[in-house]
Amino acid sequence: MSAVAAHFATDYQDARQKFCAAAAASGGRFRSYRNPTLGPDGGQLFMDTVRFGDDDAPNMLVLMAATHGVEGFCGSGAMVNWLRSGGPAKLPKGTGALLIHGVNPHGFAWIRRVNEDNVDLNRNFVDHAKPHPRNDGYAEIAAALNPPAWTETALAKAQQVLDSYAQKHGAFGLQGAITGGQYTHKDGIFFGGHKPTWSNRTIRAVIRNELGHAKRIGCIDFHTGLGPFGHGEIIGLGAPGQPAFTRQQAWYGDELTSPEGGTSTSAIVVGVVIDAFPQEAPDAEFTGIALEYGTYPVPEVLDAVRRDNWLHHHGDVKSAQGKEMKAYVQERFYPAGAKWAELVWARADEVIGKAVKGLNS
Ligand SMILES: [Zn+2]
Repeated sequence: MSAVAAHFATDYQDARQKFCAAAAASGGRFRSYRNPTLGPDGGQLFMDTVRFGDDDAPNMLVLMAATHGVEGFCGSGAMVNWLRSGGPAKLPKGTGALLIHGVNPHGFAWIRRVNEDNVDLNRNFVDHAKPHPRNDGYAEIAAALNPPAWTETALAKAQQVLDSYAQKHGAFGLQGAITGGQYTHKDGIFFGGHKPTWSNRTIRAVIRNELGHAKRIGCIDFHTGLGPFGHGEIIGLGAPGQPAFTRQQAWYGDELTSPEGGTSTSAIVVGVVIDAFPQEAPDAEFTGIALEYGTYPVPEVLDAVRRDNWLHHHGDVKSAQGKEMKAYVQERFYPAGAKWAELVWARADEVIGKAVKGLNS
């Protein structure tokens, strides 16, 4: 195994151990926040943070892993490589870093995108006091996305419904209806929840604890599942033309994509985790992006999400079928083998470099 790939983990506890060891060796200041649930092995679960730089460093680089649970293998591996390659020591004067590992530790440990409440964290940061966003497309196909039985007959019937929706609205229209987020089916997929989750409350505390003195924050939230194998798409936050988006363009150049502008592989989503930064650190200038790595074709990735959802609502995680499904899900969000891991780190190194340069421009 290559040195780079060796820093990528085999499961959540392995990832946490690798992260904590690398963070300790780099001399960062550590904090851990315990999630109220346990992992499949009975182990405790944590959102762990490590901070580098002076307490009042004006510029703060922020890296985040596992907003979408199982996608955390990617961000975790990138962070450990950054730590092990001397990232903290190379930060310019006045620039610190905050690494947030296990934003959704439950999903990470259980090989799910969602958290302990079946909630997609990147749809949970809306204002729950207001009416939730509507998604009529999802309601139309909800039963087909979450069939009670995982049999050939049931799946063929469900596929007809999805195909006919795609014929009417296009393949990307179908992707938008499924992945755009929904607040009506709590046992469905891409469910945003009806109140702030544990991760939502906890990351807000992290931001207040660690970033109160920051003047500029440059954040990279690691994701997987969309785009060509191993390619890291830099997805901008907000609408093109807004000051925050213009700043993202200045940092990342023409490669920056925009769901709102129709140039991203991602559908438009609202209520994402990184929305919390400008809310909890209002005095800092915030420049945040998602770094989205491709794995497998979108239909396979969505199939993995459906299987996982079916398994947790109607199946048995510990059965042979359950184990087979989990392996399928893990591979769709964390492809095995050194090649993908090496592509992830090479791109992460490049994008982190741009963020650090942007913070100091
Ligand atoms: Zn994601």
